[in-house]
Amino acid sequence: MKCPFCGYYDSKVIDSRPTEDKIRRRRECIQCGSRFTTYEAVEAPLLMVEKRSGDFEQFDKSKLIKGIYTAIKKRPVTREQVEGIADYVENYCADHLKTVVRSKEIGEMVLDRLRGIDPISYIRFASVYEDFTDTASFVAIISDMENKDHTEEET
Ligand SMILES: [Zn+2]
Repeated sequence: MKCPFCGYYDSKVIDSRPTEDKIRRRRECIQCGSRFTTYEAVEAPLLMVEKRSGDFEQFDKSKLIKGIYTAIKKRPVTREQVEGIADYVENYCADHLKTVVRSKEIGEMVLDRLRGIDPISYIRFASVYEDFTDTASFVAIISDMENKDHTEEET
């Protein structure tokens, strides 16, 4: 970062703190010792989704929301809840500085959340979700849920 006082090409960072969408940095010129503040934009890293086929595609939140909507059709799941799930996935990836996430992981995160919201939507999402197509795990999910129904009637 060029010094605005003497034009020297280098400066050191003496303090760094995030503001809303930028990072505020206090810098000190290595040559003249002047101090100045910079606000540097943080670019959200591109998040890629690795599909089961091994192909990659850019993470598309609206596509994820659409997928969840298919599962919750005519179920008492609100728009806020669906968006909350998509937000969770997005934030999780951002918090973990992920640049690649497997579609399987996304599916599991969604299932994890749907399970607590609506069992029918959960089953639907699980049934369209490739990794649960093998019968054994599907049966395990259902019996797991039946047990859950007996123990936790109320939410
Ligand atoms: Zn300087």
